Amino acid sequence: MRGTRAAKGAMVGLAAAVIAACGSVHAGDLRQQAAAVKKRAPAPSPTPTPPPQRTMDCAHLNCVALTFDDGPGPYTAHLLDVLKAAGARATFFMLGENVGEYKADVRRMALEGHQLGNHTWSHPELPSLSTDAVRSQVRRTQKAIYDASGGVTPTLFRPPYGATNARVGKAVGMPEIVWDVDSMDWRYPNVARNVRVGTREPKKGSIVLFHDIHKTTVDAIPRVLAGLQKRGFTFVTVGELTENQSLAAGRTFPNWS
Ligand SMILES: [Zn+2]
Repeated sequence: MRGTRAAKGAMVGLAAAVIAACGSVHAGDLRQQAAAVKKRAPAPSPTPTPPPQRTMDCAHLNCVALTFDDGPGPYTAHLLDVLKAAGARATFFMLGENVGEYKADVRRMALEGHQLGNHTWSHPELPSLSTDAVRSQVRRTQKAIYDASGGVTPTLFRPPYGATNARVGKAVGMPEIVWDVDSMDWRYPNVARNVRVGTREPKKGSIVLFHDIHKTTVDAIPRVLAGLQKRGFTFVTVGELTENQSLAAGRTFPNWS
């Protein structure tokens, strides 16, 4: 609204200037001038769109899904650079309370083909919360990620500590993605050790747990990617990995029950 009024004001100003300069002016001239003003107005920049989800044949390919929890944080942007350089896609299970400070990184994740997942607002142990509190943890985070990413609504959830039960699962209302390879990177802030574990332990179809809030984790990832590539792995998102699996709301994948 304000922009339209300003544009009209500019046109009136322009017409006055033209009249002042020429003494008289025809309506046709005015229309031409107005069209010229319109043409010069900058076009709104197009909204970038994320690349389409790929169809990966993980029944035959040696797929691995690297997942990064508890961010976004100060090392996430660098991790995105590293993943981009390797042409690797990953999945980020984010805390809603961290999203506001790193909105640009969340947007970038979406635009670069990574999967955005919900890891609660503030990392509580969900079985100890009321059902309403669980719902609130999930809902607030969904909204934060949606807003920061430019319209991505997460469809996968990861319970903090992997702690869940049937009541929590029902309240969450999304498949709960856990893992089969725990890098334990939070306990061992040691790049060489994280490289070793991250390179050796994944098997075909693994979901690997890392945390991008640790510098020693992000510093290990270039060599983890190179090592896994050498072992013939293809880096996919959890969504791509599980495309032909039946994931159900309130159920864990892999099945921990
Ligand atoms: Zn976590």
